[in-house]
Amino acid sequence: MTTPTPEVLPAPQFAAAWHAMAQAERILIVTHVKPDGDAIGALCGLALALRELGKPPLAVVDGSVPEYLRFIPGSDATVPRVTAGDFDVMISVDASDEERTGAPGVYGRAHSALVINIDHHPTNTAFGALHVIVPDAVSTTQILFDLLSIADRPISQAVAGALLAGMVTDTIGFRTNNVTPRTLEIAQALMRAGASLHEIMTRTLGTMSWRNVELWKYALQTVALEKGVISAAITREAIKLAHMSQPSDSGGFVGFLNSTEEARIAAVFKEVEDGKVEMSFRAKPGFDVATLALSLGGGGHRLAAGVTLSGTLEEVQARVLPLLQQAAADGAS
Ligand code: AMP
Ligand code: MN
Ligand code: MN
Repeated sequence: MTTPTPEVLPAPQFAAAWHAMAQAERILIVTHVKPDGDAIGALCGLALALRELGKPPLAVVDGSVPEYLRFIPGSDATVPRVTAGDFDVMISVDASDEERTGAPGVYGRAHSALVINIDHHPTNTAFGALHVIVPDAVSTTQILFDLLSIADRPISQAVAGALLAGMVTDTIGFRTNNVTPRTLEIAQALMRAGASLHEIMTRTLGTMSWRNVELWKYALQTVALEKGVISAAITREAIKLAHMSQPSDSGGFVGFLNSTEEARIAAVFKEVEDGKVEMSFRAKPGFDVATLALSLGGGGHRLAAGVTLSGTLEEVQARVLPLLQQAAADGAS
C-alpha cells in the first residue's frame, strides 16, 4: 500500500501513544456518547488493529452501536458497558471532554493506570496523561491512520473499512471545507486496502428510514429563518408521531438546513429526556459555532458543534437563538 506523505511532521505524542499501547496488556477503548460514524469507526478501527497486534482490547460504546452504523467492521465485538476489571490503558477516541465519554469513561478513569486522548476537536480539553489531538484532521480515524502508518503497521481490509467510515461521515462524503488533497490520498489508500467507499456512502449518507423522513416532515413544519440563522425543532411529540424511540442521526437534518442559501448558521433543537434540549449547530465557512457551543458547556468544530442544556424547548430557544444570531452577525473572528 502506498502511504500518503504527511503534510506535517508527526507529533512526538504519536510515538509515545503507540508505545504505551504496544506495552499495555489490558486495554480499554471508549468514545463519546451518542456516537457518530467517526466515533464508531475510530473505536472499531483501533480495536481491530490492536486485536491484530495480539492485544484484544475491551471496546465499549455507551448504550450500543446505532443501528445504521452496525455495518462498520468490528462493531459486533463492542460491548454496551464496562463494570468490572482493571486496565493498563484507557484510550478515548473522538471525545472532546471527559463528560462526553459517559459511563464507560467514568469507570475507565477510575480503573486505568493511563488515559490516552486521541481526538480532532479544537475544543478538546486535553484530559488524560497522553494526548494526540490534531484539529486539522478531518476525523479521528484520519489520526489513527497516521498513528498506524507511523508505527509501520499494515492496514487490513477491516481496519480500512472502519477508518474510511469515520472520514466519510465527518466530512459528509468529502464535502467539508477541511478536506485536502491528502484527505483524498488517505481515502484512496484505505480503498486500496479493501474498504468499500460505495457501501459506506450508501449506508451512512444515502439511506434514510421512513420514520426519519416522517420526523423531517414534522420538524420542517417548525422551520424559521431569522437574522441569518435557520432553525427547527424536533419535539417529543414529533418523535412520538414518527414512531421513533431515540432518533439517532440529527446531523443529516441540520446539514440539510445549513444548505439553505440565505442562512449563515443552522440549528436544530431536539427535546430529549429529563427536560433537556440537545442542540446541533452548523455554520457556513467564515462563521463559528464552536465558540458559542463551548461557552454553553458543549463543544465541536467551528463549522459543526453542539451542546445539551436543561430547560424547556421554549426556554432554551429563547436563550440560544439570540446568541446564534449574534454569531451570524459577527462572522468568524
Ligand atoms: P452533531 O451536531 O451532534 O453532529 O455534533 C457536531 C459536532 O459537535 C461533533 O463534533 C460533536 O462531537 C460536537 N458536539 C455535539 N454535542 C456536543 C456536546 N454536548 N459537547 C461537546 N461536543 C459536542
Ligand atoms: Mn464524533
Ligand atoms: Mn470526529
